[in-house]
Amino acid sequence: MSVSQLARSIAESPTLKLNEEARLLREKGEAVIHLGAGEPKNKAPINAILSSAAKLVTGDIKYTPTDGTPSLKKAIIRYTEENYDRLVAPENVIVSAGAKQSVFNVLYSILNPQEEVIILAPYWVSYPEMVRMVYGVPVIVTPEDGTFQPRLEDIKKVVSSYTRAIIVNSPNNPSGVVYKEEFIAELVEFCEAKGIYLIVDDIYHKLVFDGRDIENTKVVLVNGISKLYGMTGFRIGWSIANRKLTSIMTNVQGQMTTTTSVILQAAAEGALMGLQSIVDNLRLTMENNRNVMVQELKSFNGVHLIPPDGTFYCLPDFRAYTKKSEELSQTLLKKALVVTVPGKEFGMEGHLRLSFCGSIKDIKQGIERIKWVLDPCSPNEIYIGERKLVRDWL
Ligand code: PMP
Repeated sequence: MSVSQLARSIAESPTLKLNEEARLLREKGEAVIHLGAGEPKNKAPINAILSSAAKLVTGDIKYTPTDGTPSLKKAIIRYTEENYDRLVAPENVIVSAGAKQSVFNVLYSILNPQEEVIILAPYWVSYPEMVRMVYGVPVIVTPEDGTFQPRLEDIKKVVSSYTRAIIVNSPNNPSGVVYKEEFIAELVEFCEAKGIYLIVDDIYHKLVFDGRDIENTKVVLVNGISKLYGMTGFRIGWSIANRKLTSIMTNVQGQMTTTTSVILQAAAEGALMGLQSIVDNLRLTMENNRNVMVQELKSFNGVHLIPPDGTFYCLPDFRAYTKKSEELSQTLLKKALVVTVPGKEFGMEGHLRLSFCGSIKDIKQGIERIKWVLDPCSPNEIYIGERKLVRDWL
């Protein structure tokens, strides 16, 4: 088969692959526990549903402007001004098919072949692949062992004349860590001074970023409804950037997907304009789940955890058991039907990303099963679904 070298080199998204594996096992009736998921279980906000249903029943479902409907953009501007204390104009906003496409649009619009993008480990799995997809070169900066806080001095060491952008994601997927405010402030200043784009992926929304007038900044803010409202399936995200870059991204998107669906844009508008207590409820549920996850992992011999401050992930260190996270993840799936994501995928070998957006029962049972596989001090019998299993390998 004749396909391009570049396309062939792009890896499958490991998280999407694991979701599929878990779905197939569940379909077979297996008692799978999914600690790999990246979406909360809540129903979409009623306002989002009503708003998209109202649009749908008009039957008037056509293209929208490439950069999004004026009313959704207005809602995004209101939201950004409220949360970031920055003045934003419609020309700074472009709505895309998820924050994923927003990040891609930015990278496509700023990178020449072989130019570099600095990515801070542990990082969201898609960043390096997306940089490669536009013929760029990902440059990974790893924090000091035992911390997930990046250091500006380490970033400075790899900055060169090829550096076009730095991607920062805080609260961070996969570690759940929130970067220190001083670090973000220093990073913004550094990027502005050097003329480097700073792509702020704020999909887990909390980051305090200290910028200037939006037209004179190379800070690009990416956000969306996937995590904030648990509306992953609606595929709406957006970017806020200076007008020049936004108009270029609009041309790029216009040639690629034209625009996103008007029905889904209506849903996003509904969510942004509706009651925001849903976000508080979601956050409280996740905080409670986080507490349970941390509690369960604390009693796990040899596992080291930096407790997450946000998101619905944590990245415990399993190096006391093994440095090979892919093997470990496979073993846990095979022996105990628990889905986890290998830390290697996020640039953090020897760790596993565990998600706590499922039920408390799943978190408790999931960790119990992992302990059963690894920890000789845990009971050597366990029930997985209807089956009683006896450990005979430790
Ligand atoms: N950025 C990060 C850090 C993410 O974790 C995700 C989703 N897993 C995205 C972007 C993509 O979000 P969306 O669903 O809006 O494309």
